[in-house]
Amino acid sequence: MINSRKIEDLNPKLQELCRQFIEECRLAGIEIAITSTYRDNEYQDYLYAKGRTDKTSKIVTNARGGDSIHNYRLAFDFVPLQDGKPEWSDIDLFKQCGAVAMLIGLEWGGEWVHFKDYPHCQYLNGITLTELKSGKILSAID
Ligand SMILES: [Zn+2]
Repeated sequence: MINSRKIEDLNPKLQELCRQFIEECRLAGIEIAITSTYRDNEYQDYLYAKGRTDKTSKIVTNARGGDSIHNYRLAFDFVPLQDGKPEWSDIDLFKQCGAVAMLIGLEWGGEWVHFKDYPHCQYLNGITLTELKSGKILSAID
């Protein structure tokens, strides 16, 4: 299973945006850590089981393997740091970062209506998940 946190494992365009996002957050006074970039389908299926067949956790995602934008290297997750430690519960802090993300052209999961995903940012540039699943290539994004 692969669950990368390396920026280098993202689509080149998103690498650029991710680095810009980190920098803009820093300028806004918020340090962040990238917690997930590329995941393979197997790892996504493992996440999907959480809160479902794996009862030790609550549900963390609605995406199965192949249904997550992370599977296509076009999404990353972040967490704000406070005193160098991940701060997962401060929604206002996530919202400040989300505003930065949207300002530089990222789609932010905190804006979603049905399943708010505060740590999640993605960049599709008009490409749909269906197109990605049918093999549309990433180099089309630039
Ligand atoms: Zn995500």
